[in-house]
Amino acid sequence: MKLLEQRIQKDGRVLGDDILKVDTFLNHQVDPELMQDLGEAFAQAFAKYKIDKVVTVESSGIAPALFTGLALHVPVIFARKNKSLTLPDDVYTADVYSFTKQTTNHIMIDHRFLNRGENILLIDDFLANGQAISGLLDISHQAGTYVVGVGIVIEKAFQKGRAILDAQGIDVVSLARISNFENGQVVFATE
Ligand code: 5GP
Repeated sequence: MKLLEQRIQKDGRVLGDDILKVDTFLNHQVDPELMQDLGEAFAQAFAKYKIDKVVTVESSGIAPALFTGLALHVPVIFARKNKSLTLPDDVYTADVYSFTKQTTNHIMIDHRFLNRGENILLIDDFLANGQAISGLLDISHQAGTYVVGVGIVIEKAFQKGRAILDAQGIDVVSLARISNFENGQVVFATE
C-alpha cells in the first residue's frame, strides 16, 4: 500500500538491526484516517471470505483491527495480555514470547466471544517472528473457529514469521513488506 509505505519512509525510525519505530502514527500516537484506509484495504483484500469476527491482540493491533471490523460490519475482539500465571477458568489462553520486549505474555480471550465454527480474520500491527499470530492461531484452535486469513500492517519479511504462516497454508496479506534495513533506511520488498 503506497500511502503506508510513504508514511513509513517519512515517519519511521529504524532502531538497531531489526526494529522499526512507528509511534507517530501506529504504536503510540495513532492516525485515525490512515487506520481507516488500512481497515478498508484489509476488508477489500479478504472480501472473498465470509468473516464473522476480527481478532487481534492488545494494544497496537486494536486500531487497525477496529477499522477492519467497521469496514466488514463485524465485531472486533482483542486478546488481553496478562502477566500473571493465575487466569480465570472461562478463557482460552496462549503464551506469546516477545523478542522485542524479551518477555512472555499470557494472552486470553473469554469463551463467550468465540463460537465453534465461526470464521475469523486475524489482524496485527507487525509480523516479525510470528509469535503473536501463532498465539492467536492456538486460541482459535482451542475455540474451534476457522482462521480465514491474517492481515498485517507491517511485515518484516527478513524475520521468520511469514515462513511459519506460509508453512501452514495461511492466507497472509501485508500492507507494507519490508525486505531489510540499510544504513538506517527502510527497504521495501518489491513483490
Ligand atoms: P512477532 O510476534 O511476530 O514476533 O512480533 C509481533 C509483535 O511484536 C507485534 O505485535 C509488535 O507489537 C511487536 N513488534 C515486532 N517487531 C516490531 C517492530 O519492528 N516495531 C514495533 N513497533 N513493534 C514490533
